[in-house]
Amino acid sequence: MTIAVQKAEPIETRLFINNKFRNSSSSKTFDVISPYTKEVVAQVQEADLKDVDDAVAAANAAFPAWRDLGVEQRGVYLRKISNLFLEASDELGKLESRCTGRPVSQIMDATYSADVFRYFSDHAWSVQGTASNNTPGITKLTTEEPYGVAALIIPWNAPLCSFSMKIAPALAAGNTVVLKSSEKAPLTSLYAAKFFIEAGFPPGVVNILSGFGNLSGAALAAHMSVRCLSFTGSSLTGQKIQAASANSNMKNLHMELGGKSPSVVFEDADLESAAQQTQFSIKYLSGQTCFASSRVYVQETVAERFLQLFRENFADVKMGDPLDPKTSHGPQIDQAQYTRVKNYLGIGEKDGDLTVGGNAGDGFFIKPTIIERVPEDSRLIKEEVFGPVVAINTFKTEEEAIEKANNTEFGLYAAVFTKDIDRAMRMSRALEAGTVCVNCTSPTMVKDAAFGGWKMSGIGREGYLNTIGNFLQTKSILIKAGNI
Ligand code: ADP
Repeated sequence: MTIAVQKAEPIETRLFINNKFRNSSSSKTFDVISPYTKEVVAQVQEADLKDVDDAVAAANAAFPAWRDLGVEQRGVYLRKISNLFLEASDELGKLESRCTGRPVSQIMDATYSADVFRYFSDHAWSVQGTASNNTPGITKLTTEEPYGVAALIIPWNAPLCSFSMKIAPALAAGNTVVLKSSEKAPLTSLYAAKFFIEAGFPPGVVNILSGFGNLSGAALAAHMSVRCLSFTGSSLTGQKIQAASANSNMKNLHMELGGKSPSVVFEDADLESAAQQTQFSIKYLSGQTCFASSRVYVQETVAERFLQLFRENFADVKMGDPLDPKTSHGPQIDQAQYTRVKNYLGIGEKDGDLTVGGNAGDGFFIKPTIIERVPEDSRLIKEEVFGPVVAINTFKTEEEAIEKANNTEFGLYAAVFTKDIDRAMRMSRALEAGTVCVNCTSPTMVKDAAFGGWKMSGIGREGYLNTIGNFLQTKSILIKAGNI
């Protein structure tokens, strides 16, 4: 069933299994609600356990032929998907904006996806094994082999970026996939599902489910025919998936999880640049990114000047209709996230001083917010808020800065601002994070960097050069041949 929302443009709301769009076997649907207008954008089919089984069975059946197709032919398919993303980028941007409240001005997911599919259409050639004759009478080969069915579970903050950074390498490596989108943002994944029909993919190679984590997500995590699972989302859900995997078939897991990223600003830093970048980091997508610079530690000697610079333009955002290209600050994605962020504002006000921002009091908008002088054991310092809320504290010495920055279970991303190269090098070694930036902070990313977390921020790495291995397992082949 499709629901006409805007004039003639129907939004796809069905599950995509074995190259067919179909309703859920339970006939249940759930609403996708615009966080800006609060209108029901679509009623989406909710995957039930039978749908999960059907999708996994379709992927399993499609696997041998897809694996045996070879790198070149798989690449031809992936290039077609890249082109389809480019053609639809405007429409996908608007759809995502309506569904998630992200300002269209900050959505580049479709062009990113086009780039990712184009890259992986060729990249699988780089997958090579080894060979040796080191043991008399035996020739050893190693090959890298796909797992079979890969389950991919993605979040709502940049859905198509996760969609492509998981599907493209999984397919390039020869796996077939079942992707479950987030119940908060299922529409662009379903839109993109049509591309796989248009590109002529064999049935079952790609299956897309919409549904809830505790039902279809949990069923994928526990499924005995899924051998590999790549997840992006919260650390808490990551733990549940790990447990489900351990209690089923110990599937191979890769996880991109939460963060509580510190930025450390020393007295010799370019304070204007540090203030501008750390501001942007926490405001970007209304703070709904895993690598947002949510803790800033500034050296006491320059704290006053830095805070003055930080406060200056911090509140200067244009809140409003996410579809308006001039809007720079969207609402939080839904009531649950809005309430969650408001709770943290309460904690911040109780434990520290809220000096700028707070609840906008209108819709799901939260103003860019600064909380100062928060004790290091406050929940505001320890937990991921996922909103535009930054805690700014001070330090005296480098040792104290390192101690505070690292005193967290997260380890996704960290930044240091200084002009002293020796200090920059010491800090980059000392900070416990998968990515450390010097004189820049998130959303800075480069294509050939490995992205992923230390500690409870993740397992494994993503990024152009680092992802295909998540979808491959090594096989040693020992050949006794010849007369040695
Ligand atoms: P959020 O609460 O911010 O949506 P989650 O980590 O809960 O973040 O969600 C990320 C993805 O994980 C979503 O697709 C969600 O449906 C899925 N998910 C949630 N709970 C589970 C679970 N127990 N097992 C598998 N997937 C889950």
